[in-house]
Amino acid sequence: MNSDHAPDVASSSTRRRAFMLVAHGGAGTIRKRVMTPEQRAAYREAMTDALRAGCDVLSAEGTSLDAVQAVITVLEDSPLFNAGKGAVFTHDGTHEQDAAIMDGSTLRAGAVAGVQHIAHPIALARLVMERTKHVMLSGDGAEAFAREEGVPLVPSEYFSTERRWAELEKARQAEEAGGAAGAAVGTRLNRDLGTVGAVALDVHGNLAAGTSTGGVTNKRWGRIGDSPIIGAGTYANNACAALSATGIGEHFIRNVVTYDICARMIYGGESLDQAARHMIGTVLVAQHGDGGLIGVDRDGNITMPFNTEGMYRGFVGPDGAVTVKIFE
Ligand code: ASP
Repeated sequence: MNSDHAPDVASSSTRRRAFMLVAHGGAGTIRKRVMTPEQRAAYREAMTDALRAGCDVLSAEGTSLDAVQAVITVLEDSPLFNAGKGAVFTHDGTHEQDAAIMDGSTLRAGAVAGVQHIAHPIALARLVMERTKHVMLSGDGAEAFAREEGVPLVPSEYFSTERRWAELEKARQAEEAGGAAGAAVGTRLNRDLGTVGAVALDVHGNLAAGTSTGGVTNKRWGRIGDSPIIGAGTYANNACAALSATGIGEHFIRNVVTYDICARMIYGGESLDQAARHMIGTVLVAQHGDGGLIGVDRDGNITMPFNTEGMYRGFVGPDGAVTVKIFE
């Protein structure tokens, strides 16, 4: 299993005021040999831009929620990632996106699932949290809510890219060749990499987490992944940590991954890194549950484990130095 560590800001004398921000752009098969230097540079640049946007919020003493949203908005605007522009195609050639955001200081959360015309699903998830008494809205209802809130709807083509279309065609061919087995929604991650997420600790000591995704290529029947499900793909609680996951969503739902990590911390006294590594490296590996996650705890310690070849990921703290990694 792969893992990274940032400097332990908890040991710093500025402990109570130190912010920390971590982001991911999806985990899966990222072939070192196949990726050109230009492609690597493009991903690094996009991740860096996103982390800088969040860092600007946090260094101005903004909230972790605003920072998480700022990071994800930049990644949703980039066609490189499977969120917003560049989202994967469903079996029917549409785009159905899921997103969630959670405030660790209040446990308030907002999520949208299966939205088809929202350029920034993370922003709509935030509106669900702040403007309704609900946690999750889906499909047409979520878009009716968006209209009421004055959020512009965009045509489906806004999200479409040639690269994702080619991935759909490949998936359809594999499905035809593989029959029922190939029809399963659990498509391989090398086809639909690029879910995005962010977690942050702000100078006020509050945690937040967010995740946004187009889901998996060739999905059908209104399939929803783990990303918008609180406790599965997204979770934040000031009592423990903020987490955002990426990988084969069905495994992350079954194992209630992000909440389970918090539970191990609260009830078992484990550190964030211990609990996260156990989940990604032991529990999910045993189930062939490919993926990874990012997390930050209330002391600013971070974790970024993954059990795949790579995960686009990075972090930035109070010194403003952005670190971005793709492989081990
Ligand atoms: N977890 C996402 C889903 O299953 C996909 C991903 O992270 O690549 O919808």
